[in-house]
Amino acid sequence: MTDARQWIDLEDRYAAHNYHPLDVVLSRAEGPWVWDVEGKRYLDCLAAYSAVNQGHNHPKIVAALVEQAKVLGLTSRAFRNDKFGPFCKKLSELSGYERVLMMNTGAEAVETAIKAARKWGYEVKGVPAGQAKILVCDGNFHGRTTTIVGFSTDEEARGNFGPFTPGFEVVAYGDLESAKAAFDANTVAILVEPVQGEGGVIIPPAAYLQGLRALCDEHDALLICDEIQAGLGRCGSLFAHTLAGVRADGVTIGKALSGGLYPVSAFLADGKVMDVFTPGTHGSTYGGNPLACAVSDAALDVLVDEKLIERSAELGAWMKGELEGMNSPHVKELRGVGLWYGVELHPEAGGARRFCEALKEEGMLAKGTHEHTIRLAPPLVVEQADLEWALGKIKKVLA
Ligand SMILES: *Cc1c(COP(=O)(O)O)cnc(C)c1O
Repeated sequence: MTDARQWIDLEDRYAAHNYHPLDVVLSRAEGPWVWDVEGKRYLDCLAAYSAVNQGHNHPKIVAALVEQAKVLGLTSRAFRNDKFGPFCKKLSELSGYERVLMMNTGAEAVETAIKAARKWGYEVKGVPAGQAKILVCDGNFHGRTTTIVGFSTDEEARGNFGPFTPGFEVVAYGDLESAKAAFDANTVAILVEPVQGEGGVIIPPAAYLQGLRALCDEHDALLICDEIQAGLGRCGSLFAHTLAGVRADGVTIGKALSGGLYPVSAFLADGKVMDVFTPGTHGSTYGGNPLACAVSDAALDVLVDEKLIERSAELGAWMKGELEGMNSPHVKELRGVGLWYGVELHPEAGGARRFCEALKEEGMLAKGTHEHTIRLAPPLVVEQADLEWALGKIKKVLA
């Protein structure tokens, strides 16, 4: 038997301490399952924050990665490559947005959205120089760059990282009146997660996004939805915001865009917004590289061909009913959409972490969010029988 301790010690000694992981050392995976170095199997109920919606090392995505790596990895956008155009076409047709701007990490896609909104504000809307204002929501999570953490309301995420980029105003998430009061002539956009993932799987009523859409129309501002965690099937829809019957002017995606095999993100918008970018105004060395395009092309095919979005909606609704019937003394509230749940515990329960530790012992990996909420988000390829097994473990741990 292998002792996990050696890897834990190496990590703790040599790596920066910017995470507090569960003490499980994983060395292989398949579909919704992962194995640790001691050979113990776990159901992955985090799915790398929904980056592995397609399941771990999906054979079709792995094949695309390997094949492309053998022929062409990186050209930079100084030259064209034969994977970029076809992939942008696929993503444009699937998403319904005219243009695609590819980046690598989610935070970069959000930065791209911010830059697009500001440039659009000055050049199209006519906001006076330096005055553009973007509204964001409390409890948001949009990534870790200095600009983005500057408008976070999480003290841990922003503390001592200032001074911050000006031009953002925080409004209350889910509260239309709060947004309404903040819109003014210089407001160029509101940036919103259709479901707040890191915030604890917070699901606003449909009327909220509809109201934001109306406010944006009234004030000539852009509705920008961050779908990096909520999108690409997690909520039982390609995009979570369309469940409210609205269409955003700009969308950020990442995470599952590559099915967990490569960092790929994108900002999507129609030409009226995207065309503010001209040569030299924005870019990324790796953005749109052929390897990323090949991997993401396969990852989108898997999502569509295996009907993972429909599966998320169907399995998700069934699982929600099961979780609601659970009757645990520790559970304060259960929230869920698609195959995504936030099990919020009473403060007296002592935090989500100890339950995640207990689930780990039972063979299930989950991650708490916001101290008191257990997040459950298995890969969308998970079988109903596996979820039934998981429900037994959850009931046991939360009894
Ligand atoms: C994860 C996440 C990001 C940041 O993505 P990174 O790839 O970690 O930079 C941005 N927005 C949302 C909603 C996320 O969940």
